[in-house]
Amino acid sequence: MSLRYAIAMLVQKDSLALIGNTPMVRLAGPSKETGCDIFAKCEFANPGASVKDRAALFIVNDAEDRGLLQPGGTIVEGTAGNTGIGLALVANAKGYKTIIVMPETQSREKMDTLRALGAELVTVPAAAYSNPGHFVHTSRRIAEETENAVWANQFDNIANRKAHIVGTAEEIWTQLDGQVDGFTCAAGTGGTIAGVGLGLKAHDENITIALTDPYGAALYNYYAHGELKAEGSSVAEGIGQGRITANLEGAPIDTQFRISDEEGLLWVSRLLAEEGLCLGLSSGINVAGAVALAKELGPGKRIVTILCDTGFRYLSTLYNREWLEAKGLTVFPWLAHNR
Ligand code: PMP
Repeated sequence: MSLRYAIAMLVQKDSLALIGNTPMVRLAGPSKETGCDIFAKCEFANPGASVKDRAALFIVNDAEDRGLLQPGGTIVEGTAGNTGIGLALVANAKGYKTIIVMPETQSREKMDTLRALGAELVTVPAAAYSNPGHFVHTSRRIAEETENAVWANQFDNIANRKAHIVGTAEEIWTQLDGQVDGFTCAAGTGGTIAGVGLGLKAHDENITIALTDPYGAALYNYYAHGELKAEGSSVAEGIGQGRITANLEGAPIDTQFRISDEEGLLWVSRLLAEEGLCLGLSSGINVAGAVALAKELGPGKRIVTILCDTGFRYLSTLYNREWLEAKGLTVFPWLAHNR
């Protein structure tokens, strides 16, 4: 019996132990197109269906270890949704309450999921980070004003990236038997790219770490030219950062790509139609970045990226003909005749 099979067959001790240890899949289309082996971590397989369950668990455990969370306490967070879903699951399993602040531009499915999980949901208009009404600042204020509450602070709390140093990176290294040439993903908080980057480099500093940035974010220009400057825009949820968060500080970025929504959507559509994977747009952008990295490193290399969350979270947006048309985006052929 292989070690991988043995791990998959283990009976987990509790629901929180279901977070992490996600499967790795070789993506046929992107591999064929580049002559490389392109692998992806299936983060949609986490209980909350996204990569952010990992950060949520580490942030809550860290707050407990530091004595910040008392029994019956409340966890408050500002999030595009996925971290909130992860926190709500972890909080339920540990006996805490959650107050989740989200920009109202995010998908209805994520809001419905949060309400279904029992979180108190607060939505705020989309605003610049410099605006006090921004979802992050709103969540910090609510935490300050709520008794027995902690602010998860995923952007600047490095318990977030630790989840990827000790979890995601170690899993990638083990699953690929240390045969890794490159890793790439986009950044929201930066926890994934920084944590996996640091974790993989600790094993082999020759592994190329590439940032894949959407338009509308400032990190591509920062890593390419040392200037935090955003250009264009993106409809991708959960990614696109305008500043160097504490999680991004010291991230070992060797190279960077900028990927358009159309390029990301093309991979979302191909992965669904050709490989049966239903994903969100950040996953498509990551795969487009992995293809770009494969082309830069040349044939025969082994590249890893992240499938961040499930497409079922975006049925009213990415998989909806009217929404795509309203955004001026290409409609997937099989949706074109749907009402
Ligand atoms: N994709 C999605 C769908 C997300 O919700 C997030 C988290 N905001 C990311 C990617 C980026 O992850 P990280 O915060 O670790 O940079």
